[in-house]
Amino acid sequence: MLGRILIIMVLVGLGLWLLKKTMGSRKPPPTNPNPEQAKLIVCAHCGARVPATDALWKEGQGYCSMTHRHLGPKA
Ligand SMILES: [Zn+2]
Repeated sequence: MLGRILIIMVLVGLGLWLLKKTMGSRKPPPTNPNPEQAKLIVCAHCGARVPATDALWKEGQGYCSMTHRHLGPKA
C-alpha cells in the first residue's frame, strides 16, 4: 500500500520534472508586451477598436465584423 503511494509520488514528480524541462526549453508564446505596437483601427460603423490585422477592409475603411463591413460607414 505504502509502496504504491511512493511509486505514484515518484511518477508524479518525474512527470512534473519532465513538464518543467520541456516547458523551459520551449520559447515562451508570443504575447503582447507592448499593446501600443498592435495597431488598432476604429470600426467605421460602430467605433469599436479592433487590431488592424483582424479588421475587415472595404474601400479604405476598416470594420470590426463582416456585418459592419456589409452595413458600411455609419450615417
Ligand atoms: Zn463594428
